[in-house]
Amino acid sequence: MTVNTTVTVRVPAKVNLQLAVGPGREDGFHDLVNVFHAVSLFDEVTVKEASPRRSAPLTTLTAEGEMGSHLARVPLDESNLAAKAALAVAEASGLGAPVDIHLDKRIPVAGGMAGGSADAAAALVACDRLWGAGLSRERLLEAAADLGSDVAFGLVGATALGTGRGEILEPMSSPGRYRWVFALSKRGLSTADVFREYDRLRPDAPAPRLDPELEKALATRDAEALGRALSNDLQPAALSLLPELERTLAAGSAAGALGALVSGSGPTCAFLVGGGEDPLVLAEREAEVVAALNGTGLCERVVAADGDVPGAMVV
Ligand code: ATP
Repeated sequence: MTVNTTVTVRVPAKVNLQLAVGPGREDGFHDLVNVFHAVSLFDEVTVKEASPRRSAPLTTLTAEGEMGSHLARVPLDESNLAAKAALAVAEASGLGAPVDIHLDKRIPVAGGMAGGSADAAAALVACDRLWGAGLSRERLLEAAADLGSDVAFGLVGATALGTGRGEILEPMSSPGRYRWVFALSKRGLSTADVFREYDRLRPDAPAPRLDPELEKALATRDAEALGRALSNDLQPAALSLLPELERTLAAGSAAGALGALVSGSGPTCAFLVGGGEDPLVLAEREAEVVAALNGTGLCERVVAADGDVPGAMVV
């Protein structure tokens, strides 16, 4: 049997095609209807047996990333979700020797694209493989749900409906391939702050429901209908905290995007460019959207990506 001393796992970012948020629950969470869609913006998480061998701590962390991933905001201690994931695998399996974890970050930090959760999903898979723990898919999904609402989706990828606080996942019908443009903000937004603002703006929020128009658009692979159906209940709260996002959304829409919305709790803005059309038409529309967003002077970086893509995978 080959013994791995290093394992690298690639994991995608997510955008929410619909994020419907119910009233605050007694445990502080909100009931959600969350249509997750994995896109080809990837972090890579490498776990390596610590050398020289040490008895503690279980994890050390390093990180690198492209400009705009806001690396300084990534904690390099046991509060990092990847370190928590390593501990979860050690506890669930009774195995676990000290490891060095390296994060190669391309997913914007605090950008509403679940970068930290993605790293946690990747670290679950990587530690399970490195230590030969052989945890079942169900056990990994359980550990993921304990780590955070978006972590399980990092394992699953593709397009999935999340309910509960987002962690109860059901795959959705294969939605075809879509082209997206993402405008990364110069600033970050704290998810907790955005939910607090949501509660202030919507004290009477109704129970969340899956939008039938969105379901239909996905089932029929109708990119224009999908663009119209994109929705995010957190968007007004994100715009209230960062009003300049309104201009970013307007610029991408005016340049021909089929749909525009704040991704999750923001501040990243997502623009659906198309899907299934003539590649030349798509490329032209993408170039116009990218140019318009760069022209606002509001974006740290503008990147294009495809969705959907699979979840965490050993590379
Ligand atoms: P979500 O969309 O799940 O609400 P987000 O994409 O807005 O999250 P993250 O990039 O996950 O935000 O980061 C949120 C905060 O989590 C960071 O500011 C940081 O303090 C902390 N964090 C913990 N682990 C990580 C990690 N591996 N990568 C990035 N941030 C992390």
